[in-house]
Amino acid sequence: MTASPLRRPARRTAAALALLLVCLALPPGAEAATPPATSPAPVPGSGRDLGREVLATDDGWAAEGAGTTGGSTADAAHVFTVRNRAQLAAALDGGSSVPKIIRVAGTVDANTDDRGRRLDCADYATGGYDLDAYLAAYHPRTWGGTKPTGPQEDARKASAARQAERVELRVGSNTTIVGAGRGAVLTGASLQVKDADNVIVRNLELRDAYDCFPVWQPNTGGLGDWKAAYDTLWLRGATHVWIDHVTASDKGHPDDREPTHFGRNYLRHDGLLDITNGSDLVTVSWSRFTDHDKAMLIGNADTVTTDRGKLRVTLHHNEFDSVVQRAPRVRFGQVHLYNNRYVVPDGGDYRYSIGVATESRIVAENNSFTTPGHVEVADLLKSWNGSALSQRGTEFNGFPVDLVPIYNAYNSGSETDLATDVGWTPALHGRIDSAERAAADVARGAGAGRAG
Ligand code: CA
Repeated sequence: MTASPLRRPARRTAAALALLLVCLALPPGAEAATPPATSPAPVPGSGRDLGREVLATDDGWAAEGAGTTGGSTADAAHVFTVRNRAQLAAALDGGSSVPKIIRVAGTVDANTDDRGRRLDCADYATGGYDLDAYLAAYHPRTWGGTKPTGPQEDARKASAARQAERVELRVGSNTTIVGAGRGAVLTGASLQVKDADNVIVRNLELRDAYDCFPVWQPNTGGLGDWKAAYDTLWLRGATHVWIDHVTASDKGHPDDREPTHFGRNYLRHDGLLDITNGSDLVTVSWSRFTDHDKAMLIGNADTVTTDRGKLRVTLHHNEFDSVVQRAPRVRFGQVHLYNNRYVVPDGGDYRYSIGVATESRIVAENNSFTTPGHVEVADLLKSWNGSALSQRGTEFNGFPVDLVPIYNAYNSGSETDLATDVGWTPALHGRIDSAERAAADVARGAGAGRAG
């Protein structure tokens, strides 16, 4: 079973009704300080101390071996409530491995100075950096296809380093970060779990890891591309990580409202949750990934062959809503993808959901897709040098579909067919519901503020 029971709306409604009746019974000005003896049982989850909770022993790959306990054993001196960037940075302590519980209260903005003053892109810009000058210097017609060098690129790098110093926040081993109650938001930050073990992030909204200084990369994909620096959450060399009831998005700065420069979208965001460079044993549950282009990259290069045997990740009961691509895109990893809900809106950009890349071994079970009519079943998958995908129980706009044969039929002749044997069977997981049942539960229970 999952460690994150859903609140049942019926119970919540009953509790709300009871509270209303109590309030109606009170004289004006009185407060219902203590519930009367006849009040119903507390709403499930209320009073729980999320910071002390640990991953259930069977809940996905992060439960393997010693499991994932985060900072649950922290002593009283290492339980922090943080309300601004400076407090958060102090609590993270440069990525120390002392067991610690960090509760985020309200909205914490990473783009602030140590006195809490908001910093915008102009505050970071240095060395004469100017976007118009940058565009003039590296226009493909005059600059050509080589990597930008020279004064404007030097100034961009120096400016970017100033922003990175503020927004990149390193998370060390034995750390739990939780939102305090509902409405906890970390905005503008790139949380980076680097070369660390045993980390939990729960009940927290991560918003808008906005790059003030995207770099022009000529020739990526033919025309060139703008590359943004920050993932809202980046696991790099990270093991035993549990991400639960997190909401991650570009809220406030959608990339589709950015202009194009050199004919390419001026992207401000990189991944929502990227899992790379030897990361292993990760469970991502009951989270929402939304309003974003490249949501989740598992394995960042075919050349990183040291990722072989690692990148083992379980994704269950997550919602991918209004995501253009990478939900996830996988290299090398054994990824168990079950009971997730995918929503593709009408009118939005959409490329694919599940990316099957080099040596990936994805087992996809009972996932639900809701798409507009122009999206085909074969569009849900995309393969780059992928060889196999195991899937069953997929539901597409209410109909059961078998992804692999449909994908192979649509792409016959263009590449090698995907096989269906990935060579492993997931052992660590909770109950796997039908796609339909899971989609309803996810719609009601996934995301920050719903962890109890
Ligand atoms: Ca990334």
